[in-house]
Amino acid sequence: MYSAAEQKQLDQLGRTLLTASTPLDEQKAQQRVRQLGEVIRFHEYRYYVLHDPVISDFEYDQLYKQLEALEASYPSCRLDDSPTTRVSSDLTSDLPEVEHLTPMLSLDNSYNEEDLLDFDRQIRKLLAWGEDEPIAYAVEPKYDGGTITLVYEGDRLVRAATRGNGVKGEEITANARTIRSVPLKAAFSTVGIQRAELRGEAIIRKDNFHQINARREEQDLPLFANPRNAATGGLRMKDPREAAERGLEVFVYQLGFAEDGHGKDARAQFPTHQQSLDTLASLGFKVPVEERTVCQNIEDVVRFCEAWADKRDEYPYEIDGMVVKVNRRDLQERCGFTSHHPRWAIAFKFKARQATSKLIDVEYQVGKIGSITPVAKIEPVQLAGVTVSSISLHNEDFITGKDIRMGDTVLVERAGDVIPYIVKPLADLRDGSEQPIVFPTECPVCHTPLFREPDEAAWRCVNAECEAQIKQRMIFHVSKDAMDIDGLGRSQVERFYDLGWVKHIADLYKLDYAKIAHLDGFGQKSADNLRTAIDKARKNPIHRLLHSLSIHHLGKKASKLLAEEIGHVLELRDWDEERYLSIKDIGPIVAKNVMAFFAQPENIDLLKEMEALGVNLTQTEEDKPRVIDADAPLAGKTILFTGTLEQMGRKEAQELAERSGAKIISAVSGNLDILVVGAKAGSKLKKAQELGTVQILTEQEFITTVS
Ligand SMILES: [Zn+2]
Repeated sequence: MYSAAEQKQLDQLGRTLLTASTPLDEQKAQQRVRQLGEVIRFHEYRYYVLHDPVISDFEYDQLYKQLEALEASYPSCRLDDSPTTRVSSDLTSDLPEVEHLTPMLSLDNSYNEEDLLDFDRQIRKLLAWGEDEPIAYAVEPKYDGGTITLVYEGDRLVRAATRGNGVKGEEITANARTIRSVPLKAAFSTVGIQRAELRGEAIIRKDNFHQINARREEQDLPLFANPRNAATGGLRMKDPREAAERGLEVFVYQLGFAEDGHGKDARAQFPTHQQSLDTLASLGFKVPVEERTVCQNIEDVVRFCEAWADKRDEYPYEIDGMVVKVNRRDLQERCGFTSHHPRWAIAFKFKARQATSKLIDVEYQVGKIGSITPVAKIEPVQLAGVTVSSISLHNEDFITGKDIRMGDTVLVERAGDVIPYIVKPLADLRDGSEQPIVFPTECPVCHTPLFREPDEAAWRCVNAECEAQIKQRMIFHVSKDAMDIDGLGRSQVERFYDLGWVKHIADLYKLDYAKIAHLDGFGQKSADNLRTAIDKARKNPIHRLLHSLSIHHLGKKASKLLAEEIGHVLELRDWDEERYLSIKDIGPIVAKNVMAFFAQPENIDLLKEMEALGVNLTQTEEDKPRVIDADAPLAGKTILFTGTLEQMGRKEAQELAERSGAKIISAVSGNLDILVVGAKAGSKLKKAQELGTVQILTEQEFITTVS
């Protein structure tokens, strides 16, 4: 439909228009309206027909809004075929078309509190209501799947269809019949309804989606980018058995049409949207329950929407916003419709998690054990409320696997608290100027040739004296997980390094506090605090010291296991592989790396120097193996804490549990024995309750048990 050159041109034009200023005269407006129309139609084709968009939903919405606003300011510029005059379409010619009983319009979008307040003002204007008159709004999640309509006649499901262009959709009855949450029979006659058309969203649970992709990976099939693609694809499968395997569910959110045996509208018996949904629930449909509410004013709507924006990640289904509807049907009717959307409803869209940007450079960072991490520098973009300009590319295989090239337009995603990542390059937008990313063959800092173990993903600089590594090792040494030195972090270490005060770890124990006190931003008090923190670290148990040495593969747990076995750190000089492997949970890789470390004379010198500087190298009480009394109150149990504890810190509680014989684990699963629940416990508690095998204790019950 579009040539490659046209695609590139339209995409470029769209990107220019996204940031272009508003045209000031009618002639310019006319040109802009035409351009926006072309660009939007192109993106609709990519999205609805090819299912392979090249801009984010948010960017699309911005273009659409721009066009709507221009057409509102200059009505004479509106073109007959403007995308705003019809609703968008997902029609292709594969499946038979059917006409909906009532046209499905799309919803207008809002993005923030101000937009919602505007919506409320609009409604009041339409109703000619003052500010004091209460308007109740029904609010429910906006599920991110594929829209479906269900037609029932005489209590039987007779037809299901996709949304299509809103007037006509594609018939998918056979597939819908495989969806368990779609009743094949529902007792509409008990509420006087002969024929009904329901609207819903077909979706796939997030955990189910991951399983589907895992199966596809095994079968070498292309993976779905997100649950929505898996759901919309599932609805339109040719073979209903394949559709059934997707595990689709349908949430019904609207009674679109209902008539009684005499062809009269039967919706009047439901004075509110809420009542119609409650009735559908009682007839056996899956409707949002806890997720749905009725707010008595717009301020409560704003709060409810914001609360859901915060918890969308914990929710088992993908949602991309909330839908706000005037609850009373008579008021809905008074508000009416535009050609494009109902005036009495609006979607509140959560902040965009995806955006596109350009890859402008790749930097290579050297880690504490010399691993080289490529980091993409992109043109800054807003993602879920944060500006993102650099993103890890992990390793060479990640770059080659995704075929990411310098100059590419890339799709970037940031979900919840997850670190932003590059989903894919948009290969269709290449103009030939993109260059392959050439991974360096030598360390960017010390120029030692890089080396890669056959079974490892990272290229490494193997020069132990590499400046970049030494700096990273010092930063790790002082970090919370290692020696845990308060007031000494990345920026201080870098500063002391740049001043030439610290060249390796041992120097951290030789700092001149008088000089530090005179540094900008320090002063006597901070210098004193730093001295206290470092003196405290000198007495650390040796498991912390072992971990702090940045020995490849020697993590926190293995460090503890080693510390249990030795009276003094330097005893490890004499250990052979067999001795390491005699410890349960220590494998040959850890053994090899620890042995290599202790075989280096420089490392022995470093440890001796540290000991001379007062750093503890002998086993402490905390290092000794904990003898678990079989009579300990929690002997042999696994435990997990969730929510906010009030009587003690999380760490303190965990230590107390360990002393009582319990083992801390990190997730709710069949292996969990006890869940201790503090205030504001969320999804973990729910999951434990669902499992039914987990003992759930309050904080007080836990304390009583262990004391
Ligand atoms: Zn190096």
